[in-house]
Amino acid sequence: GYRSRAAYKLTEIDEKDHLLKRGEVVVELGAAPGSWTQVIARRVLPDGAVIALDLLPFEPIAGVDFIQGDFTEDSVLAELEAKLAGRSVDLVLSDMAPNISGIAISDQGRMYQLADMALDFADQHLRPGGKMLIKLFQGAGFDPYKKAMQQLFKTVVPRKPAASRGRSSELYLLGIDRRSGD
Ligand code: SAM
Repeated sequence: GYRSRAAYKLTEIDEKDHLLKRGEVVVELGAAPGSWTQVIARRVLPDGAVIALDLLPFEPIAGVDFIQGDFTEDSVLAELEAKLAGRSVDLVLSDMAPNISGIAISDQGRMYQLADMALDFADQHLRPGGKMLIKLFQGAGFDPYKKAMQQLFKTVVPRKPAASRGRSSELYLLGIDRRSGD
């Protein structure tokens, strides 16, 4: 079984968009408790590499390299980069979300601070043609973020899997075909 129902969001998106490919190098941000990682590991490993990161501890998954730490800290980013050891990344996934304070404006701000850092990471490490799937909140910050993603990817499409429907303002953006920079 899966560690969380969040697995169904990724499986639904992957069935449509075929993100997870055997042998690729995948970086997953905001991975705990690890249900997406279970899906990713099954589809990508044993070839390729899965590097997963979260603030929270994580029950190990065979073949997955896990880093416990805050993605916004330089030392944690450096650890992630060290594990890549110069390899470029095929796919970046971020399901990161701040702990909800209940103060909508600051939750929204912190969400987009994380998302901006994830996009910078993709800009630095994603190969041309690579992809990125990221969780966002609809509302302030969404449209400029989508524009920023369109600078980096040829195609950017929204995805709202069934498990995200209902009251939730969460919406995923999928960036397809990272531009080659020329
Ligand atoms: N996709 C996961 C799964 O299927 O099990 C669920 C991820 S949960 C919705 C969001 C995660 O983002 C939390 O585990 C949280 O600890 C993590 N997170 C939030 N801020 C973070 C940060 N600054 N650095 C690393 N992880 C962070």
